[in-house]
Amino acid sequence: MIFMMKKRLKRPSQIPLRWRLTIWYLLTLGVILLLFAAFLYWQLQRSLYDQVDTTLQLAASQALINVDAEGDTIAFQNIENPANAAQPQNDDLTFYLLATDGALVDQLGRETAVPPQTSFQPGYVTISTKEDRWRIFTQAVAADNAAGWVQVVQNLDPIDETLEKLLTQMTIGLPLALALAGIGGLFLASRALQPVARITHTAESISGSDLNRRIQYQGPADELGRLAHTFDAMLDRLQAAFERERRFTGDAAHELRTPLAALKGRIGVTLSRPRPVPEYTDTLQEMEGQVDRLIHLSNDLLFMARLDQGERPLQLEPIVLRDFLGAIMDQVSPLAEAKQIALRETILDDLTIRGDIDLLIRLFLNLLDNAIKYTPEGGQVTIAAQLENKQVNITIADTGPGIPAEHLPHLFERFYRVEEDRARRGRGNGQSGAGLGLAIAYEIVRAHGGQLAVESQINQGTTFVVHLPKP
Ligand code: ATP
Ligand code: MG
Repeated sequence: MIFMMKKRLKRPSQIPLRWRLTIWYLLTLGVILLLFAAFLYWQLQRSLYDQVDTTLQLAASQALINVDAEGDTIAFQNIENPANAAQPQNDDLTFYLLATDGALVDQLGRETAVPPQTSFQPGYVTISTKEDRWRIFTQAVAADNAAGWVQVVQNLDPIDETLEKLLTQMTIGLPLALALAGIGGLFLASRALQPVARITHTAESISGSDLNRRIQYQGPADELGRLAHTFDAMLDRLQAAFERERRFTGDAAHELRTPLAALKGRIGVTLSRPRPVPEYTDTLQEMEGQVDRLIHLSNDLLFMARLDQGERPLQLEPIVLRDFLGAIMDQVSPLAEAKQIALRETILDDLTIRGDIDLLIRLFLNLLDNAIKYTPEGGQVTIAAQLENKQVNITIADTGPGIPAEHLPHLFERFYRVEEDRARRGRGNGQSGAGLGLAIAYEIVRAHGGQLAVESQINQGTTFVVHLPKP
């Protein structure tokens, strides 16, 4: 047992469901957050750098307006920062004015550690010094007969710092958010799965001997509610099946005991003193009757058990009803004659079915046996067969005493007998029967994919209808 448990625990699927749900949730959330953060960072970086470039270009244009040619040299016109009016943060900018040979002619704005660039390429470059990074914009100057370059320089450090700060915040914030989400997720998953634990607990406490317990889930009719409900319904069916089984065993034992007790009693009485030969013969004949009843019963029980277990697959073959039912009627006609019961038939020609002949013989013998057995002398039993709505209906009708309506729903249950018949049999009129005949008939019809129905009118008669699918 311990070994088994260990083995089971090792399997990865043994991680509790709430943990697995939380892990999946965290993984998904983590990926989404990471992608989102990366996108945000990238967007911000791009817009900040774009903004620097725009500022530099704008400042360079403004500076150009203020470049004056003095002879063949150029210089900034005012000492004032030329771009002040346009860009408030232009305090951060440095302006260089260079001659065409790269010599620094004039300078404005902030002092910086970056010298002017002499590899003249109009446009932007980013250069790094030991500590900082710089963005430089170069534009050509053409004033009267002088020429040169204006360069605007901005320190990228503040932007890099901002981005770095954001990155740090993200690296701390992201795991923190994930941790919080994980705790929340675990809490929610545990809460959502709580009813499952309750269902499991109840299921564990239900044993074969105590099938009375139910989950009786009170929550909403969601997935779990439906599961609990289905489980309860399954238990209902199981309990009914168990009870049927128990009743069946009890009834079977009882039915076996009655003839055995009668045998035992009769033997005891006969042996109590010496008797003349005819009396022994009498006793033996009566004993034979009881033994026949026992054989009949055990055959029925065995047959029923085989049918239940599906041990014997149906051997279907085409059967011509007229011939088949005719043969069965021949078989029961001596019984009918003995009771002066008229046997009639109205069977359509050419009507065939597909069925297991052994089972069907048993089915119709049971029904006809009942009809003859329970119909008083001088009565009538009729067999009819016709085609109706893709079904073959075979009717066995008698003019017997009928069956009270309250018994009809139970008639096909095993060992079920109508009370009056039990009493009658008790008086020993030879109508021995255990109440299995109709139960067997019902199972046979069901195995053929058909239905067995009964109608009865007190003092008028009973009609059994076998509905079989047409081949
Ligand atoms: P078994 O068939 O096992 O020998 P049985 O005939 O008593 O015993 P079923 O054939 O299952 O048992 O019938 C059940 C009960 O239904 C019978 O006890 C009888 O009371 C009633 N019954 C069946 N067929 C008829 C019928 N044609 N007319 C009146 N009552 C019937
Ligand atoms: Mg019967």
